[in-house]
Amino acid sequence: MNKDWSEKNKKMQSLIKKESGFREGIDVLIELREDLFSQITSIVETYPLEAFSQMPYALAKGYHSKTLAYSMWHIFRIEDIVAHTMILNDSQVLFTDGWLEKTKSPIITTGNELKDKELIDFSKQLNVQDVYGYCQAVMDSTNAMLTKLEYKDLKREYSDDDKQRIIESRSVSTDEDAFWLIDYWCSKDTAGLIKMPFSRHWIMHIEAMCRIKNRLCEKARKGTDPIAYCGLSCDHCFLSEECGGCRTSYNTCSYATCSPNGVCPNTICCREKNIDGCYECEDIENCQKGFYENADEINAIKAMALFIRKYGKKDLKTVLNNLHRKYEFKKIQEVVGYNIEEGLKILEKNR
Ligand code: SF4
Ligand code: SF4
Repeated sequence: MNKDWSEKNKKMQSLIKKESGFREGIDVLIELREDLFSQITSIVETYPLEAFSQMPYALAKGYHSKTLAYSMWHIFRIEDIVAHTMILNDSQVLFTDGWLEKTKSPIITTGNELKDKELIDFSKQLNVQDVYGYCQAVMDSTNAMLTKLEYKDLKREYSDDDKQRIIESRSVSTDEDAFWLIDYWCSKDTAGLIKMPFSRHWIMHIEAMCRIKNRLCEKARKGTDPIAYCGLSCDHCFLSEECGGCRTSYNTCSYATCSPNGVCPNTICCREKNIDGCYECEDIENCQKGFYENADEINAIKAMALFIRKYGKKDLKTVLNNLHRKYEFKKIQEVVGYNIEEGLKILEKNR
């Protein structure tokens, strides 16, 4: 489990056990939920639409055997049902503000009943941006409820009437892979519900989403040129596990993610000039476009681009393998420095 998330979760669980720590515990819970939600935001903002209906771990057992779109739907449908139909006994977020219509979901259930191809078909039907909007609305609504909770509420237990209300809402399928959820939730007190579904359930599914998207990046990179337009080598990049590379639509390179449409300006420029990479451009030494705007920090990368121009990509790969064998480093400037000419000499020395 992600260390930060796990530590925050433990801290929250221990704080809410005592009345004196309860309020702080709820604040930690909301902070944890915001951290987790930012992971969903980054996935929605940076991955192509096709990524949301793929099941790269279809045969696996576990939360990662689903799709990204399903995971979002499932986490927040469960939360909506538990928070509104079960705890607050009011209307679910899905049935307010037109969310059901906007998300284009063909179901109102948690989705536990969907199998294999049904999961993919379901994911393809969803409007991912509006599912994301729905997720955000559910999160905000639950956060408001959590903020109003009092310590004494943690011991509240749930009755057959609560169970019946969930059944009548038809929000949980009668399929055996789904119906058990009702007994499961209703066997817990509110303290138990804070764990499942309001914290741990998120952690498990969002970690699974990270696994899914990393696998999609790995698949996208397979067979594509690992040399980035700017001169970096994706195979040697510390972000390679979670980035599909700038030659694919799974590019989550830091500069791409903060650029319009998720495409790095250097990538756009190279494509416009119809060149393979900045290493083929005459203006590289003085270029300050996109990734190159932060000159000193990036000079090591320009040095790599110039090295490619002189010796080719294959030789750069050898040099980087040699450097990684010799030194422990994350960013290339840690060994190549901040000057283009000197950096180039270091690279040449390590051929
Ligand atoms: S951040 Fe850049 S160099 Fe790293 S993997 Fe992504 S595209 Fe490649
Ligand atoms: S102008 Fe700059 S960004 Fe464009 S190809 Fe040349 S070096 Fe790359």
